[in-house]
Amino acid sequence: MLKPEIVKKLIKILGKENVFTTKEDLICYSYDSTPHDHLPDIVVAPANTQEIVAIIKLANEHNFPVVPRGGGTNLSGGTVPIQGGLVLALHRMNKIIEIDTDNLTATVEPGVITATFHQTVEKEGLFYPPDPQSMFMSTMGGNVAENAGGPRGVKYGVTKDYVLGVEAVTPTGEVVKVGGKTIKNVSGYDLIRLFAGSEGTLGVITQITLKLIPKPEAKRTILAIFDHLDDAAKTVSGIIKQRIIPTTLELMDQKTMELIEGYIPSGLPTDAEGALLIEADGSAIDVDRQIGVIEQMCKTCGAREVKVAQDATQEAQLWAGRRSAFGAMARSARQVLAEDATVPRSKVPDIVRSIQQIAAKYQLTVPTLGHTGDGNMHPNILVMKQDEEEMKRVDAAIDEMFKAALDLGGTLSGEHGIGLSKQKYMKWQFDKASLDMMKAIKKAVDPNNILNPGKIFLKDE
Ligand SMILES: Cc1cc2nc3c(=O)[nH]c(=O)nc-3n(C[C@H](O)[C@H](O)[C@H](O)COP(=O)(O)OP(=O)(O)OC[C@H]3O[C@@H](n4cnc5c(N)ncnc54)[C@H](O)[C@@H]3O)c2cc1C
Repeated sequence: MLKPEIVKKLIKILGKENVFTTKEDLICYSYDSTPHDHLPDIVVAPANTQEIVAIIKLANEHNFPVVPRGGGTNLSGGTVPIQGGLVLALHRMNKIIEIDTDNLTATVEPGVITATFHQTVEKEGLFYPPDPQSMFMSTMGGNVAENAGGPRGVKYGVTKDYVLGVEAVTPTGEVVKVGGKTIKNVSGYDLIRLFAGSEGTLGVITQITLKLIPKPEAKRTILAIFDHLDDAAKTVSGIIKQRIIPTTLELMDQKTMELIEGYIPSGLPTDAEGALLIEADGSAIDVDRQIGVIEQMCKTCGAREVKVAQDATQEAQLWAGRRSAFGAMARSARQVLAEDATVPRSKVPDIVRSIQQIAAKYQLTVPTLGHTGDGNMHPNILVMKQDEEEMKRVDAAIDEMFKAALDLGGTLSGEHGIGLSKQKYMKWQFDKASLDMMKAIKKAVDPNNILNPGKIFLKDE
């Protein structure tokens, strides 16, 4: 509980209507898209940078945690106020400030919804590639803070590849502005990259300037069905070996397709071990060339059926199943633990096999899908959090999955971040000197440990 005098000061800064203290309101901000939860003491919704400065200064004065929150869609426990304190809900800061068609940049507030941003820039014939599949709920600030990726990452990279400038309020209440509209910028340390993926621990991002690119002239989608998952995985490396980088290269396994068909029937086979959803974009002529090569590669690698969308309606049909995958899983279990094991793309067949073996060993249901083109697999473990015995098996299985990914030269997270969920594995991936350097950065900018405390690093390591 924050002292009444602090609540009074917050009301003075934000207005009564933007300060929330009832149990019902607090519950709404106590969880995200993971099974973690913890009630905050208070939730506030600032309208601008200056209000955030005043809030953070107050937090330092009275020593309470501040947890920034966008759409709350993160999959690592990043927005759960694990030590209580104040949740900074950024939905009111949702203006697209500028689309600069001369410089091909856009400047936005952090609360802009990702899909709204896509639609707005596309009306100008421009394109912002990062496409987290939560795009209808996630925010641009959350995307930067998690360094979000998405299916298009295989060709276009992730959020950090598009951030040119950031305004942020530091954990001690200073405003920093780094970068701008220049495409090249190597002055000083790269603080923009430091904010990207900082998971709300190093600053509250209040304004973002993003690089845009021209919208590709054409795109086409292929769905390839495989009786053997290994053949699907081999197709991925086969396509890349042909020097073709598709826009997306998404893999769905049999269990995923079964769940989708039981939820929103999309014409996916339930008797095939895997399917690849592949999109190519570019000039119309080049897209036809790419699709020809990809179609041939799918067949060569053993696809039993290859469907090429002939128009936008067919394309939407092919994507409908993939887009409803998470909903289909969520509907079939109390919780879905969406993991994020990521390996070099040549190791995709190995990690898929490991995930299957681990799931069988611990008798778990683990539909797996992923942005296979960049080695970013999502084994989704369907669990009942209340079943203690099952949760023990789940913990052991997750340990083994991350171990397998690291042994294959991979990483703990391709896009979901560390948050609360993967803290204990950090020492598996990083040597002590690297971990110490990260912690020293946090300590230097946040001496009172105000901003999103208890995330990324375990306390006593
Ligand atoms: C169905 C589903 C599909 C998903 N698909 C993808 C995918 O394809 N690719 C992918 O990368 N992720 C995906 N995610 C994960 C998630 O959507 C992303 O991590 C997204 O970037 C989170 O955005 P958000 O606005 O919801 O952030 P939140 O969940 O609100 O916050 C995430 C983190 O950022 C911090 N934060 C939020 N806003 C700010 C700010 N303005 N300043 C500083 N810190 C801030 C928070 O403190 C927290 O640590 C998916 C999630 C779901 C539920």
